[in-house]
Amino acid sequence: MRLVRFLDPASGLPVKGRLEGSVIVSASGSIPVEQVHLLSPCTPTKIVCVGRNYAAHAAELGNEVPERPLLFFKPPSAVIGPNDEIVLPKSSLVHHEAELAVVIGVRCRNVSVHDAMSVILGYTCMNDVSDREAQKWDKNWVRAKGFDTSAPLGPMIVTKDEIEGPFHVMSRVNGEVRQDGSTRDFIFPIPALIEEITRYMTLEPGDVIATGTPAGVGPLVSGDIVEIEIDGIGILRNTVA
Ligand code: ZN
Repeated sequence: MRLVRFLDPASGLPVKGRLEGSVIVSASGSIPVEQVHLLSPCTPTKIVCVGRNYAAHAAELGNEVPERPLLFFKPPSAVIGPNDEIVLPKSSLVHHEAELAVVIGVRCRNVSVHDAMSVILGYTCMNDVSDREAQKWDKNWVRAKGFDTSAPLGPMIVTKDEIEGPFHVMSRVNGEVRQDGSTRDFIFPIPALIEEITRYMTLEPGDVIATGTPAGVGPLVSGDIVEIEIDGIGILRNTVA
């Protein structure tokens, strides 16, 4: 299934539905996808992000490959949906980061590598928008990675029964390819990430694990159109305000 959330034009309220071709089917009926404003496909209680999960990206920023997954958070307030505007913080350098986002399907804790696939609902695209200037002085990256609009998510969740990795992860800015990588190059694969995270915290349905970004990150400036594309999932497109 391809799961979406959108604003119901009749009620103005968020509604969940599933995409069938170009039509969204929901409890309130059927509507062509181009007639609605899509929202982020889930509403996470937290986004757990993985830093430096591709060796080539660690190298491009002059970082070592970590021995254990490097983890940080983005708050729910950072989430925006497809076609929403990214509002840049006051910074001399803000980067896009194309990432595969794993969406959790069930409340879980202490999940082993062996059982990890069973807690996944599906996959979507995320742009881990990052303030590189703040990242230099903001030790826990709360400001560098957690500012409003820094977590575009979408356009839909493709459930795990319909897609499997490795995933081809790309970004484009104003149509020009910036990142073109494969989750084949993960340092820590998804089951290992789930085991590590749930050793410390409960994951809730709709929570997101952002799995890190391939090489090729680059700046975003006002007026840019940035696209994150993952084959089999779709294109997450946002403009920079
Ligand atoms: Zn990232």
